[in-house]
Amino acid sequence: MKQETDNTPDLQRRELLKTTAAATLGLTAAASATEAHAEEIVAPRVAPPEIAQQRPRAKEIVKITKLETLLVKPRWMFLKIHTSAGVIGLGEPITEGRALTCQTAIKEIEPYLIGKDPRAVTHHWQAIYRHAFYRGGPILTSALSGIDMALWDIKGKLLDVPVYELLGGPTRQRIRVYSHARTVEDIRAAKARGFTAFKTGPAKLNDRFSRPVDNMAYVENVEKKFAELKEAVGKDGDLGIDFHGSIQPGTAKLLMHALDKYQPYFYEEIINCQNVDVMAELAKQTHIPIATGERIFTKWGFREILEKHAAIILQPDLCHAGGITEVRLIAGMAEAYYANIAPHNPLGPISLAAGLQIAASIPNFLCQEQVSLGDGYIKNPFKVREGYIDLPTGPGLGIELDDEAMKDKIGHDWKNQESYDADDGSVVDW
Ligand SMILES: [Mg+2]
Repeated sequence: MKQETDNTPDLQRRELLKTTAAATLGLTAAASATEAHAEEIVAPRVAPPEIAQQRPRAKEIVKITKLETLLVKPRWMFLKIHTSAGVIGLGEPITEGRALTCQTAIKEIEPYLIGKDPRAVTHHWQAIYRHAFYRGGPILTSALSGIDMALWDIKGKLLDVPVYELLGGPTRQRIRVYSHARTVEDIRAAKARGFTAFKTGPAKLNDRFSRPVDNMAYVENVEKKFAELKEAVGKDGDLGIDFHGSIQPGTAKLLMHALDKYQPYFYEEIINCQNVDVMAELAKQTHIPIATGERIFTKWGFREILEKHAAIILQPDLCHAGGITEVRLIAGMAEAYYANIAPHNPLGPISLAAGLQIAASIPNFLCQEQVSLGDGYIKNPFKVREGYIDLPTGPGLGIELDDEAMKDKIGHDWKNQESYDADDGSVVDW
């Protein structure tokens, strides 16, 4: 993590911070441990000289020249924002199942950005969000989210620092991540890859979806399957359960009562996230943390969740909630309510990279979701060790697309599944 440098101001800064940290804490006897910690946290990340020489100075003119979108399998969309400086910013502006709609939204926003300085990130966020007049919603906020992370990527690259350096970080030395698991075999395979935290869903009974008030056979099956997975995880690991907002309040209470004793990491979207008052009631009836946020947008969306104490783990999605700019603000709101942030991410490596930058920028981070560490999409895919990913050190988002490896993954027509009740054919959530 630490890089050697002959940059005198940086060395002086590091020495000053080390001295200040030790003096403030008054830990003379523990000076060596404090110094080691301070050095880890404040170690400067310095770009190689050949990159530093290419860096546009703060007053040089940099303009956005083009927005390019790529549909990428299995269901993602990547955005490249090109600039006159030759620096390209990466983002993921996607609402799953509406890739073409999001692509059109980006096309409609493009004229605003062309010719503008990409470094005024917050100003562009405000202009894109507020000048739409009809604010928010999944499509426009996802488009804005992808643009926002690409602008942060450009800004970090122009200044040769990771985005978290621009947001006051790093706040931690490594970042915990979790993996999805449906079976005991999934748990074992993920453990072998280095994971210690996992998430599953409620097991189906006879391949049917849950009913508004379900029966003992359904509840006992969910409990039995969760207990098996929890045993495979072990008491020193964590296993959350995601109800996808598809469980009705009556069944949600029955499941909480059955699962509380296994100490799930969290109950995610135990009911629909728009049912805030009832979610707050459920939160009072369990000692397990309630988590929600993947379908909640912007600071205005999360305000009610916090005010009503409906959840103490917020899961904003970097690709939907408003990007890095907005999730950093949501984390600040959460901090005031002693709530934690566990960014939602069933998408690609650019979304993961943005989530890692947030994790390294905030104090109240819990765990980062991921479904891809970037193999086959980025050069130097992320690695998990002891449940954690090392703090990224590259400029901007810290990743580079592997265009060659992505050649066979361009284009898709992924759609959301249609789900119906097996008994009467009515529409159900999945
Ligand atoms: Mg979920």
